[in-house]
Amino acid sequence: MSEPTARREQDDAYTTAFEAHVRESGRWRDQPAVRLDETWFYPESGGQLGDRGRLGEVAVTDVQIDDAGAVWHVVDRLPEAGRTPASIDWARRFDHMQQHTGQHVLSAAFERVRSAPTLSSTLGADRSVIEVGLADVDWRTVEQVEAAANQVLWEDRALVHHWTDAAGVARFPLRKPPQVTGRIRIIEIPEWDWSACGGTHTRRTGEVGAIKILGWERVRGNLRFTFVCGRRALEDHAWRTESLADAARRHTLRDRDLLAHLERAIEERDALRKRVGALERAALAESLRHELGDPPRALQRIAEAGTSEDARLAALLALEAGAPWAASAVLAPAPALVVAAAQALGRDLRTLLPRLLESAGGKGGGSPTLLTVTAVDAAAARAAHALAVAWLSEDVPR
Ligand SMILES: [Zn+2]
Repeated sequence: MSEPTARREQDDAYTTAFEAHVRESGRWRDQPAVRLDETWFYPESGGQLGDRGRLGEVAVTDVQIDDAGAVWHVVDRLPEAGRTPASIDWARRFDHMQQHTGQHVLSAAFERVRSAPTLSSTLGADRSVIEVGLADVDWRTVEQVEAAANQVLWEDRALVHHWTDAAGVARFPLRKPPQVTGRIRIIEIPEWDWSACGGTHTRRTGEVGAIKILGWERVRGNLRFTFVCGRRALEDHAWRTESLADAARRHTLRDRDLLAHLERAIEERDALRKRVGALERAALAESLRHELGDPPRALQRIAEAGTSEDARLAALLALEAGAPWAASAVLAPAPALVVAAAQALGRDLRTLLPRLLESAGGKGGGSPTLLTVTAVDAAAARAAHALAVAWLSEDVPR
């Protein structure tokens, strides 16, 4: 049975190198892992990812904590027993500290601006999310929340750690009741936020750099906000600015006009698409009139290329032109067959469907007057087409 590891990062999130004393080797979920007598590595918990780093020559690929409070450093291979220099991947850890401390500030801003509680948070490898008890929001409200949160960063307030216990937490105006017992650590952002939290934090709010909300979606009647802090906020700003500026320059527009321009272009494209569709349909109807003759014969068409939608349109237009039935196949890129029969023909196409599916080796379905079937290949599409033609040709005047 393991015992709790002395977690030095709880009082000191800035030590990145120390002399590790390997106390026990074991496994964490089938991977080699070691326990130290004390550690500055942060184990994954409370929605914050674990640290990475090195124990001598050995890479620490993950850090986890077990139910007994023992911290397990997952390693690519076991290090020598005894003392070894340890180092923490500081760029990664500091990034996590920026996201995590930023989350405290942002959650408190939602409380203060909209009286909206944070229900859960997850700090991801690229972006982080908080679920907030809000039914709806708009960008103006988001702007107010961001302004309040970033103001706290610009004032560069020093965070205060308080160690207390279950009886002592009543002294603090916590956003949420603590989920742990025993010694409880309260993180105070003066005149802004008090949270019982075991994560890693920056010393001052200024180190968070910036807090930016990127968007939101509805979940379980609440809103889930995606946000970035610090370096991530700068990187996000960089690629968005580059994309917007490049797109605007390419079309000799001001970037603020780009959205209106895009909307106009999409409207135009949709209108043109509609117009082209109508013209194609008219041309096809005209060519079918010649192909079917007078009085119109059945349509037996095999197209080398096209979509099942093309095949369907040809079949329906043939019926509109007066054909008694139509078997319309396309061979590539996705072989398919559409069979249509005029109501007056009095045949239920669904009785043909099982044999058609067997022949085509594909999937399909439809109504008494219209079937659509996919085929495994062009040969199967041809075979199914021949079958449909033979079946429909019975009792059908040519
Ligand atoms: Zn925290």
